[in-house]
Parts: sequence; C-alpha cells; structure tokens
Amino acid sequence: MSDSKQFQRKDDPARFSVDNFERPVLDTPNGADKILLHSCCAPCAAEVMDALAASDIQTTIFFYNPNIHPRDEYEIRKQENIRYAEKLGMDFIDGDYNVRDWFDRTKGMEWEPERGVRCTACFDMRFEVTADVAAAQGYNLISSTLGISRWKNMDQINGSGDRAAARHDGMKYWTFNWRKQGGSQRMIEISKNEEFYQQEYCGCVYSMRDTNAWREGNGREKIKRLVKFYGRDAVVEDNDEKVAAENAAE
Ligand code: SF4
Repeated sequence: MSDSKQFQRKDDPARFSVDNFERPVLDTPNGADKILLHSCCAPCAAEVMDALAASDIQTTIFFYNPNIHPRDEYEIRKQENIRYAEKLGMDFIDGDYNVRDWFDRTKGMEWEPERGVRCTACFDMRFEVTADVAAAQGYNLISSTLGISRWKNMDQINGSGDRAAARHDGMKYWTFNWRKQGGSQRMIEISKNEEFYQQEYCGCVYSMRDTNAWREGNGREKIKRLVKFYGRDAVVEDNDEKVAAENAAE
C-alpha cells in the first residue's frame, strides 16, 4: 500500500507513531557530532533520545535536577532514565543532588506560578551546570529534554539554554523543537511501551503544593506519588489540566 493511501491525511496521527514515523536525519546547529543532553525525566527524554540515536549523534545523558522533591521522587525519575539510557546504550552522567543550592537560587520566588521567574531560575541553574560539565568534558553542544513538554514555555527554556551556553566560547544550546512532527505523541507512546513512572507534578515542592491546591479546588484527588506508571494506569492529565486552565486565564 502506498504511503498516500495508508495515511489519508497529512496530519494522520498514525503517520507519527513509533511504528510508522520515518525519522529524519537531524543536523546539529554547529556541526557537532556529539551532544550533552540535559534530561529531566524518562518520559520527556525518551523521544529525544530516540531522535538523536536515529541521527547517529553521539549522546550522553546528563541528569541534573536538584529541583525534584522529595528524594524518593528524584530517585525514581532518575532510575527510569537510567533504564532507558542502558536500553539505548547511551552514557549517563548522574549530576549532583545539591538541593540546598536550588532552594538558595529560588529563594523569594516560592509563590511564583509555573512558567514564571522561579522556573527561569530553575532552568538557568540546571543548564549552567550542564554547560559547565559539557565544557569540561569536551562537548560544544548541549540541549534539554524539558522543551518537549507542551506545557513548558519553549522561549523561556531556550532563553535559559542560550544564556548557559554563552558562558563558554564555542558552546551552543540546540533549540530544536522536539514536539513537532509528532514528537509529543511519540513521547506518550514510548512512555506507555516502556511503562515509565508517571509523575504528576513538575518537580519542586512548590509545584507539588500548587498542583494539589488546584486539584482540591477542582474536586480532584491529591497527587499520588511513586505508584503510577504509563501503560499500567490511566494517563493522568490533572497537572496538564491545571496548566491549561492557567494558560486560559492569562
Ligand atoms: S515548577 Fe518545575 S520548572 Fe518551575 S521551579 Fe518548580 S521544578 Fe523548576
């Protein structure tokens, strides 16, 4: 069956599924053949990791997220990411869990909403360390899996990435839009296939507080941590709904 018959519409979701999508070979923005990829969690990372692997771009995962609270939440997100890195044969660097520094960095921003200045400070911290580690280990290209989440502000993430890269001569932050060409769809699909742990809040203690407050105000049950997995449980969209409601209110 020809491609045009198999997919009746250009935006047919089936076209972008893991099984059908023909991954393009990506060119890095500075010609680099290797990248240090900051990763926030396995669900966001997997599609990006697959895209880079398909383009033969040598990828090392840098898991650096001292924002994640509490420690057992941090550990489960990290272990899921290690599991997928091992599956793809990618190197994995386990960054510091310097929580105190993160709280110092975000002091005074405790009541800022998601996608506000606290998140900028959070991205800045994580990407600055990513750029520093990249420079120390001979990389001149970095990026982050954070940008694939449709509820994150891409400009905000890219701004932090660009600032972090500018700390080192010749360093580039790759602003590639990992969501396009069905990236968001495959992100969920891979998460279900892999039965990744399904987190229900962005990561910090303030995002947990605010998500629970939103749920309470909308008659929803509070966050359940460490128990839900894609593919085994219904995909929880509560946090997405909260952010969507905030978006609509702006
Ligand atoms: S909501 Fe997410 S991005 Fe914003 S400060 Fe908290 S952990 Fe960082």
